[in-house]
Amino acid sequence: IHSQKQHMDVGQRLRTIKHVVLILSGKGGVGKSSVTAQLALSLVQANFKVGVLDIDLCGPSIPRMLGLDGKKIHQASAGWVPVFADEEQRLACMSIGFLLPDKNSSVVWRGPKKNAMIKQFLTDVYWGELDFLLIDTPPGTSDEHLSVLEYLQEWSPDGAVLVTTPQGVSLSDVRKEYNFCMKVGLNVLGIIENMSGFQSNFVASILQECTNVFSTGGGEAMAKEFNINFLGKVPIDPSLTLFLDQAPQSGSSEKDSNNKSPDGQGSFED
Ligand code: ADP
Repeated sequence: IHSQKQHMDVGQRLRTIKHVVLILSGKGGVGKSSVTAQLALSLVQANFKVGVLDIDLCGPSIPRMLGLDGKKIHQASAGWVPVFADEEQRLACMSIGFLLPDKNSSVVWRGPKKNAMIKQFLTDVYWGELDFLLIDTPPGTSDEHLSVLEYLQEWSPDGAVLVTTPQGVSLSDVRKEYNFCMKVGLNVLGIIENMSGFQSNFVASILQECTNVFSTGGGEAMAKEFNINFLGKVPIDPSLTLFLDQAPQSGSSEKDSNNKSPDGQGSFED
């Protein structure tokens, strides 16, 4: 009965959201969060209303990439109000980063606490009407993936976007990720090859000329092999690194936040 209620709560909470998409990568550092941030910004530019849920509990980077470090979430009667990245409130964001006392705090939790947090994200956040909810997941296939999929089970997300770099190691990791999706019945929407070549200067970027630092085309070949969509290549762009890593931060630490950890005690350690 308990488990049925959880699913019903998630279903009720997410019924105002048209599409739910998970962003996955086989390993860390391939640019999964950067791709999530870019997808979110592109969708907003295309006039959609977007939410980003960051469930990378041990390494939340979405707040920093969207320039929202230091922001706190608020509790309203309808639930946790996400942090908005823009005045028009077209880009909403929820991350454990907003619940931590400061950006250097770490989360040291075992599975059950991570489960509780993810459940709370899925049931308590008041997203309102959204066209897309993008869920940024931790690298690999961990507790976080299993619990988010378990809670989303009956609601059935649209699928997953797999992010890889062109190198063999990363591709073999994404192969595992693909197999994971098959095992859990999660539709794969396609593959994005990030850090695919380097555009050495502005002219090269206009002409779309890339120097292939690593190999290239691996993601595309793999998409063919698995018969899934190849969604595109994103070159290495030093200005993107600067933009994402040094996005102007709000710097505020609002006092009226509701720092509520899953145990309700404000503890972020096991
Ligand atoms: P992940 O989420 O897979 O761990 P991140 O998105 O945090 O990876 O990216 C890792 C680092 O690489 C960050 O510093 C980010 O700014 C940088 N980065 C990601 N993609 C690109 C790119 N296409 N060009 C330049 N830097 C990138």
